[in-house]
Amino acid sequence: MSTSLSDGNLMEKKRILSGLRPTGKIHLGHLVGVLLNWVKLQDDYDCFYTIVDYHALTTDYADTSRIKEYVFEVAVDWLSVGLDPNRSTLFIQSHVLEHAELHLLLSMIVPIPWLERVPSYKEQQRELTDRDLSTYGFLGYPLLQTADIIIYKANYVPVGEDQVPHVELAREIVRRFNNFFRPVFPEPEVLLTKTPRLLGLDGRKMSKTYENFINISDEPEVIHHKVMSMFTDPQRIRKNDPGRPHLCNLFSYHKLFAPDAKLKQIESDCQKGIIGCTDCKEHLARQLTDALSPYQEKRRRYLSQPDLVHEVLSQGAKKARAVASATMAEVKEAMGI
Ligand code: SF4
Repeated sequence: MSTSLSDGNLMEKKRILSGLRPTGKIHLGHLVGVLLNWVKLQDDYDCFYTIVDYHALTTDYADTSRIKEYVFEVAVDWLSVGLDPNRSTLFIQSHVLEHAELHLLLSMIVPIPWLERVPSYKEQQRELTDRDLSTYGFLGYPLLQTADIIIYKANYVPVGEDQVPHVELAREIVRRFNNFFRPVFPEPEVLLTKTPRLLGLDGRKMSKTYENFINISDEPEVIHHKVMSMFTDPQRIRKNDPGRPHLCNLFSYHKLFAPDAKLKQIESDCQKGIIGCTDCKEHLARQLTDALSPYQEKRRRYLSQPDLVHEVLSQGAKKARAVASATMAEVKEAMGI
């Protein structure tokens, strides 16, 4: 486990593992709900962040034509928002084969009903009706997630409430393995961090599926176009109708991106019917453009140096592999194979 010097003492940092599927460019929901938290965690934890391309295959196995492009896009976005390869281990899941090996070994000891009762298994089968999800890979993805976490003996997994059952499952699997063989793995714990949740342009969950997102990389005119299409307080018909900012999805964006004084002014002007929704949207579009511009500038730099991005991922995989292969040696010894 990595160490750092603090106040003259050698401090041991706890390890974190988290991952994101490569589904293309990263949107604002990912930025505020996940990535900015990951950036902060780098100060206090030994962070392993992985682009989980095997996981992408569990649902999108029929068309893999863009997966490498998406992996690259995600890596560029990660670096642009401040994930730092000098402080965190950034890597592609499939570049560390030990994930697949541990997944296989765990599949020998985990009863199928444990996987069938994971809430997202049935939920996603109901929601993603355009594909056949009666595959082993889809059933087994929480097991693969467990392998991702425990192969690094991660202490914490930063997740939202909806992912808690997955970490609970990982803990159960760890107990089963440790009981059958010998204690190799620590039980990972959930690191619940309160992160803001941004809804999509139409008020539903922000998602690629619903096409209701703003990407970190969107150009100013694209941002403007998308913001102008956003839903606002439906009761506000005329400009001087008193508005209800706290029921307006657009205002939740202002809360994250407007300076305090401006936010108070928008709130009050909306409630008094002084500002119209079109002006309010114009303001948000400008605010977002300004907020995203530093990321976009860095993004352009990384895009012009693809070799550097590949090198970061390659060094990350090397570092991850060293930890993962040491764990696998222990696993095999414990299992007597
Ligand atoms: S003025 Fe702004 S905050 Fe108020 S309802 Fe319109 S878009 Fe929402």
